[in-house]
Amino acid sequence: MAPRISVVVLYLCLFVGISSESDEYDATIKTMEEFSGYQIHEPVLQDSSSSPLSVNTENLQKQIDELSTFSDAPAPSVTRILYSEKDVLARGYIKNLMSLSGLSIREDAVGNIFGRWVGSEPELAPVSTGSHVDAIPYSGKYDGVVGVLGAIEAINVLRRSGFKPKRSLEVIMFTSEEPTRFGISCLGSRLLAGSKELAELLKRTVDGQNISFSDAAKFAGYTKNEDLSSVFLEKGSYSAFIELHIEQGPILEEEAISIGVVTAIAAPASIKVDFEGNGGHAGAALMPQRNDAGLAAAELALAVEKHVLESGSIDTVGTVGILELHPGAINSIPSKAHLEIDTRDIDEKRRNLVIEKIHQSALSISKSRRVKLSEFKIVNQDPPALSEESIIKATESACQELNMSYKKMISRAYHDSLFMARISPMAMIFIPCYKGYSHKPEEFAAPHDIANGVRVLALTLAKLSVS
Ligand SMILES: [Zn+2]
Repeated sequence: MAPRISVVVLYLCLFVGISSESDEYDATIKTMEEFSGYQIHEPVLQDSSSSPLSVNTENLQKQIDELSTFSDAPAPSVTRILYSEKDVLARGYIKNLMSLSGLSIREDAVGNIFGRWVGSEPELAPVSTGSHVDAIPYSGKYDGVVGVLGAIEAINVLRRSGFKPKRSLEVIMFTSEEPTRFGISCLGSRLLAGSKELAELLKRTVDGQNISFSDAAKFAGYTKNEDLSSVFLEKGSYSAFIELHIEQGPILEEEAISIGVVTAIAAPASIKVDFEGNGGHAGAALMPQRNDAGLAAAELALAVEKHVLESGSIDTVGTVGILELHPGAINSIPSKAHLEIDTRDIDEKRRNLVIEKIHQSALSISKSRRVKLSEFKIVNQDPPALSEESIIKATESACQELNMSYKKMISRAYHDSLFMARISPMAMIFIPCYKGYSHKPEEFAAPHDIANGVRVLALTLAKLSVS
């Protein structure tokens, strides 16, 4: 590390040491004195609003509230669907904030938005951060939004502190993390990560109104007949990617911990299964003659639970979220049954073993119950991702320097980070949210929790930028 850069880091640590509201104030100053070799005269405890790493909490909350008004559902619900009029307005809002923060803006063919603060060594791979602002119908105003508006505020925090990045810092707003319109989740980040299959698939993808992906994108001002491979980024385009997000689970709030340092993101696989039997009259057909597709589905649902529990890890989960019977009448034996199964793990091998066992059970159930297994389709099978140790370390030391409690944890929901991990070292920062609520209007994160997340993000970005 060049001496000039060390000083930058040092000053940053120094500021943090002085400004943190800590019971161990003297110890921090002493450590800083030892570390810096300078004596810190007349240390003054400042409140966080005047500290060099201070977040403009009020303004950030105002932005979160304003962004939530670009919605197709009445407040407090938020509905913001990809390439809708409200989505276009939200995009304009984000780009405006990016330019007010002095970032140079680029948009790709599907509307991933990039705002870059050019560092002193622009030829080095930048450090990036970001999330999404699309919202599923009748959801809340924090999911994703905290990681976009919070990232822009983290840039402002660093600018106000006088920090100068060595590697460029980039804020990314990803297109369509939610699958609402075209049934494809993390559309923007999957493409960034170079998914050729998705680029092909999007050529013939339509929404529920039969509007093609490219027409919808054109409405929003994107894909002017461009080849979607223009969106792909090379592996190594970023030296690090880190996403700030609400936890969407109850752990941090329950344990009163400020920050979650995500060590791995579990990845889902989804499976569609269809059984077919002969059906028949619920009174006339005697039990020995039946081949009930509904009972085959019920037996498979229990088998899913059994195989998941057999993995022996708390991180393996499985859910039968859809179970439909045909014809669906009280006096008719089900002739068809349709199941959709979601199974997740942070260990790909273990998850894939569960899928294999579910398949074996489906085959043996169809045999023993004399029903036809007309479909067993693995719809998607994304690999899980591990966070990069060096980014985890940088985040942990940012928490320590800011005197914030933290714990390492797993993300059981998946995020754009899962796909960014394919092209960049990755990690995530979680903040507490009310009762773990998400994807509903009651979703809430307290302003001071958001500010904590932004400060940790800012300091982590700073550390990664000079490394
Ligand atoms: Zn999200």
